[in-house]
Amino acid sequence: MYRILRKEVFSPSVKLLEIEAPRVARKAQAGQFVMLRVYERGERIPLTVADCDPERGSVTVVFMEVGKTTRLLGSLEEGAGILDFVGPLGNPTEIEKFGRVACVGGGVGVACIYPICRALKKAGNEVIAVVGARTKELLFWEDRLRETVDELLITTDDGSYVRKGFVTDVLREVAGRENPPDRVVAVGPLPMMRAVCGVTKEFGLKTIVSLNPIMVDGIGMCGACRVTVGGETRFVCVEGPEFDGHEVDFAELAQRLQRYRAQEQESLARYEAGCGGRC
Ligand SMILES: Cc1cc2nc3c(=O)[nH]c(=O)nc-3n(C[C@H](O)[C@H](O)[C@H](O)COP(=O)(O)OP(=O)(O)OC[C@H]3O[C@@H](n4cnc5c(N)ncnc54)[C@H](O)[C@@H]3O)c2cc1C
Repeated sequence: MYRILRKEVFSPSVKLLEIEAPRVARKAQAGQFVMLRVYERGERIPLTVADCDPERGSVTVVFMEVGKTTRLLGSLEEGAGILDFVGPLGNPTEIEKFGRVACVGGGVGVACIYPICRALKKAGNEVIAVVGARTKELLFWEDRLRETVDELLITTDDGSYVRKGFVTDVLREVAGRENPPDRVVAVGPLPMMRAVCGVTKEFGLKTIVSLNPIMVDGIGMCGACRVTVGGETRFVCVEGPEFDGHEVDFAELAQRLQRYRAQEQESLARYEAGCGGRC
């Protein structure tokens, strides 16, 4: 069992868990993820490593409750155990001294962009973070990002904090500056990453996105996470999760994410009806 050391509730649907997993904590790098299973008959889900502390032997994940398993996970309290916690999986983010890098995070993607910003900064880059959320209540880790990056730009869809609009509005301004970024990294909901790529393509800026397809085993065996990148089939779990955003077939990926919608809804309905996750 992997014990939950700390729980933080950012909003009713976004939660942080710090989990005791010393071996994962020793190895995890920015951009990698874990696959976890709450109990024996539960499904495995992938979550990005938002932070890790090798000395404390812990890994932090931040997640949005969207369906049965993320709700079940969000209902666990400090001291509870998670049955399986496998990782680190996937390739780490490519970290080099690129010069100036804009890191764009949307929603829960902010947690995924944080370790990337930190690693890029450590490698000597000037880092501009552009983060957005639907409303002020859904924003988190502003303090952590502010300590890490050179410039932090915030947007909220409803204008409840800093600037009204989407991350793409701000990114367009950053891209149009006299000294535009040498590279853009985007993590967030699929429509956001797709829109980011639309902007950066116009400005000819290399863009890396972290893809989030349905994933079953996370180790390249099942093929569920396949995506088309540059006209070729790639497996996100072992060849990604990061790819050149200008090469990704986003329409196909969006369609594949909907594939088990009916089953996901049925599972959530059973969970809400009181199966306690054991259904
Ligand atoms: C490499 C990787 C890293 C990820 N990291 C994070 C993270 O750090 N934090 C986080 O909140 N989520 C992350 N996700 C998404 C997360 O795995 C899904 O939200 C989760 O599997 C949904 O499980 P569920 O049983 O709660 O919902 P389900 O019942 O499986 O799905 C409910 C709804 O969520 C949508 N959905 C299902 N799977 C995904 C998915 N993979 N991505 C986006 N939407 C999905 C479905 O279309 C459906 O509408 C990551 C996904 C991948 C592939």
